[in-house]
Amino acid sequence: MIVERIHDSIKVGVLGFGGLGQAAAKILAPKKEMVLVAAADRKGYAYNGAGLDADAAITACYKHGSVVYLEPNGILSNKSIQDLVAKGAVDGYFLALPNLPNTFMADVARQFIESGWQGVLVDALKRTSAVEQLLQLQDELKQAGITYLTGCGATPGLLTAAAAIAAQSYAEIHSVKITFGVGIANWEAYRATIREDIAHLPGYDVETARAMTDAEVEALLDKTNGILTLENMEHADDIMLELAGICSRDRVTVGGVVDTRNSKKPLSTNVKITGRTFEGKISTHTFTLGDETSMAANVCGPAFGYLKAGIALHRRGIHGLFTAAEIMPQFVK
Ligand code: NAD
Repeated sequence: MIVERIHDSIKVGVLGFGGLGQAAAKILAPKKEMVLVAAADRKGYAYNGAGLDADAAITACYKHGSVVYLEPNGILSNKSIQDLVAKGAVDGYFLALPNLPNTFMADVARQFIESGWQGVLVDALKRTSAVEQLLQLQDELKQAGITYLTGCGATPGLLTAAAAIAAQSYAEIHSVKITFGVGIANWEAYRATIREDIAHLPGYDVETARAMTDAEVEALLDKTNGILTLENMEHADDIMLELAGICSRDRVTVGGVVDTRNSKKPLSTNVKITGRTFEGKISTHTFTLGDETSMAANVCGPAFGYLKAGIALHRRGIHGLFTAAEIMPQFVK
């Protein structure tokens, strides 16, 4: 079945095969327009130009801790991204990698630029300062023939794009307030996400959170009953809405609650966009995600929608850096 649809489908690679990477593979499995041909993690990569078996790749990770144990496609490598990019015929990559340290994603982008590879990159980056680093690579990405869409997860991503659409009712935007609720049964399924969230707590930063052992993370979660309450986070929704001309970044706030011991969301994820209409009325639009939708659904779905949009841009010769607030995602069939 994979072989039949491979000719005209978009060949996708997923870099980082943890919680989000594995969910991404599951989401792609029934799709006709995209096929997963490559996946990489810290230990190596798996590549098959005719398509990877998502279930087998996830089982390899579950049983042995890495996608390299996917027989017969897995290959051990201590520079998995570099080796895969050199070898694989891939149209676009979803970067489901931890941004630890905070410069990691920009380093990966530089590796792609240096490799001579051309195609589409999509990330689900979270921090403003991380997106700022990518902005500095704008010209190099363009010259390299890469179309890079950043901030394409849930927040930033889906909610930022919703804010950009909701803003159209107003003459002036007063505030964009994002509040997210995440429920995951087990923090170890999303180690990077949880470490990066801890980095926003008072008294922590990216480096201290990165240096924490798993036991230290567990000890912290024990103290809070598994709950992380996050306020005034450094989130790139602000710079993305500013770049899209919606409002200045100081009008955008992001916070939320993460329950690491319960897959039920502690609160409904929403974005409230308050502004003044041309008639002088002050009003608020609210966009609320369904409580049944998981973090993985709300991150990976948009990431592939933006990847499809990025492929359309790339085919028209449009390269460089774009954010989720300036491009409309396309639905992947
Ligand atoms: P995870 O810890 O579950 O998995 C990370 C994966 O990356 C692992 O497979 C690991 O082996 C691999 N990896 C690490 N270093 C690597 C390297 N140098 N080369 C190749 N592979 C490497 O991570 P996760 O919880 O799935 O999160 C991934 C990212 O998604 C995080 O940065 C997180 O902040 C982000 N995220 C964004 C949103 C959003 O809405 N924008 C939401 C959730 C998570």
